[in-house]
Amino acid sequence: MKNTETKQLFSKVFVDGATVTNRIKYTILQWAAATVHFMLIFIFASVGVYSMVAFNIASTICYILCGILVKKERYILFYYITFVEICLHSYTATILVGWEPGFPLYILGIMPVIFYMHFSLDESAGLHESLLIGLCCLLTFVVCKIISYRIEPVYVISKKAATYIYIFNTLCTFGLLLFFSLFFLREIQFSRSVLEEQNAKLDKMAGIDALTGLYNRRSMDKLLNSAVNSGRTFSVIMCDIDDFKQINDAYGHNSGDEVLRRLAEAVRSLLRDNDYVCRWGGEEILILAAGTPLSGAALVAERIRSHIEDMEILCGDDLIRCTITAGAAESTEAGNIEGIIGLADERLYCGKKSGKNVVVSE
Ligand code: GH3
Ligand code: MG
Ligand code: MG
Repeated sequence: MKNTETKQLFSKVFVDGATVTNRIKYTILQWAAATVHFMLIFIFASVGVYSMVAFNIASTICYILCGILVKKERYILFYYITFVEICLHSYTATILVGWEPGFPLYILGIMPVIFYMHFSLDESAGLHESLLIGLCCLLTFVVCKIISYRIEPVYVISKKAATYIYIFNTLCTFGLLLFFSLFFLREIQFSRSVLEEQNAKLDKMAGIDALTGLYNRRSMDKLLNSAVNSGRTFSVIMCDIDDFKQINDAYGHNSGDEVLRRLAEAVRSLLRDNDYVCRWGGEEILILAAGTPLSGAALVAERIRSHIEDMEILCGDDLIRCTITAGAAESTEAGNIEGIIGLADERLYCGKKSGKNVVVSE
């Protein structure tokens, strides 16, 4: 990978916390494996084990060529090749130089990585295949150990050289594990944050009325409760569109919907940021005017009523006009939310009876 690509990858994974694509993961695995085998060529050459030099030249070329599989997204084949190569390398190295240089360590290192790779592929075969791979890893590790007990290594390398190779193999194995553990951790964190974001969005959507974009009754109930708990005076304004049934009948239900949307927009635009407005029922809008006494609420309601009276709503070829009637009540006028809303409703009803298109606040 080029230097800039590597930098981008690091910032993507470890700074942004974005999810890592399979292409990136397998490219890293491919180049890590090729690099380790390339270094092993020189390590084996330095201790004169030329058959392992040849093995590692072949492995290095194999991993470089695996880039083609990664490009073609044939990941399963790639990790099977990796798995078989590591097993073969462990057997061969144990037979030729013994257990001490620690080549079977790669079996331990590759096992969780293969599990992780497996998990991150959509077409992964699941638990059974992972278990089979785990058992094969265990078998290879144990067989290597038995070989080392039963057979004398073909090449005798010094204790010092064996220790250095052991340290190299340990570092590579831990490096591999650490790197992929970090990937795994980041992936889990990223998935969790996406899930939380989606939950928050869903929660918000569940509190919004789909037609008007106003809060729905569920949200307003919560807002009313917190207004009561705050202990501050507030007012509610219940608005109802006058003769809305006739609008539906005259212009059609779709135009009725459009009228509702436009009125909702208008009401919202006439309120302060800390007032709340919801679609209480079919064509009823409830406003919660926080920190506002009845006199203030009556003024707000009157402003809305007169604005709507002057509005002309274009629906297709029709220019629709409508009015609203509103009833206002203050929190101090009743002991609970139902009482306050009931009072606003009663006043709204009085307004309807007295000829509509009015605000009633007493
Ligand atoms: P009033 O002045 O007494 O309030 O008369 P009204 O016709 O507005 O009252 P009524 O309660 O008789 O009718 C309300 C109408 O509102 C009936 C219903 O079809 C309509 N409505 C309720 N929800 C919607 C909606 O989402 N879209 C449309 N287009 N109409 C709705
Ligand atoms: Mg009505
Ligand atoms: Mg109504």
